[in-house]
Amino acid sequence: MSALIIDGKKLAEDLRAEIRKRVCLCVEKGITPGLAVILVGEDPASVSYVSGKEKACAEAGMASFERKLPADATETELVALIEGFNADPAVHGILVQLPLPAHIDEGKVIGAIHPEKDVDGFTPVNIGRMIIGERCFLPCTPHGVIKLIERAGVKTKGAHAVIVGRSNIVGKPLMNLLVRKELNATVTVCHTGTVDLAGHTRRADILIACAGRPGLLTADMVKPGACVIDVGVNRVEDPKAARGYRLVGDVDFRGVSAVAGSITPVPGGVGPMTITMLLYNTLESAEYAAASPAAVKR
Ligand code: NAP
Repeated sequence: MSALIIDGKKLAEDLRAEIRKRVCLCVEKGITPGLAVILVGEDPASVSYVSGKEKACAEAGMASFERKLPADATETELVALIEGFNADPAVHGILVQLPLPAHIDEGKVIGAIHPEKDVDGFTPVNIGRMIIGERCFLPCTPHGVIKLIERAGVKTKGAHAVIVGRSNIVGKPLMNLLVRKELNATVTVCHTGTVDLAGHTRRADILIACAGRPGLLTADMVKPGACVIDVGVNRVEDPKAARGYRLVGDVDFRGVSAVAGSITPVPGGVGPMTITMLLYNTLESAEYAAASPAAVKR
């Protein structure tokens, strides 16, 4: 058996084409969707993520406002910058590139973002709204994962979904989305305290790996025909690669492809969807501002 490869790149391209059309309609109404991106320090991975987001904004016809702060910037400086963007009507979404340097309280910084501009969906207000099913910005990676499952034609209703990882930005939001009535999956969440990981993963109709451990999930841990979504992005040394490393997921792609019904590759699976859902949230924020400017109190 050879699994269907769920092409995240293609799905992201399709969604971005729709987003571009809706951005044009927004611009016709006098509003250009705008995303503010804040980077603290010069971590190479973060620099590359930020430039990817700017490029994606430009391709979608959106404005981007980048602010770079030095690694020794204070929490007060960062919060002041966020407050400026909160008050700026040209900015519809604010993103602070994580992780932040250790001397900065991440929770305090994220909490300073106005929930109506929290296009990452990380503020406590948005997380609360997501859990109780109110209108909110869904966190981008989990939202992208749900879109990929739908694209693969996999039914969530009545399915047993097993998530390996319980972070606030991936595992926990995924759990909350999958148990929503409209998706109606039964969800098991695994972590480092889980006893008999393979026993759980082998019962999954939908298996989502978000542990950040290369090769954690192998073919013997997967139920034949399961849908396998690999969120992991891990650098492994590879002397043959131009940069000396290559990116792999948490799933042994080759082995698991022979057992699974469908599977996302790394790269080319979840990654392109994450930026796409960020554009989607920024667009929704701008559309909301265009439709009801009086309702948007910053
Ligand atoms: P994280 O905060 O480090 O969380 C990892 C989770 O996995 C934790 O809950 C941890 O358990 C669990 N875990 C680790 N090793 C495990 C093991 N051997 N068995 C069972 N559970 C294990 O990571 P994250 O931020 O959620 O990211 C996870 C991965 O997704 C990373 O590779 C990251 O690069 C990738 N990612 C990709 C995208 C994308 O757009 N493609 C976006 C975000 C993240 P404990 O809670 O017990 O420690």
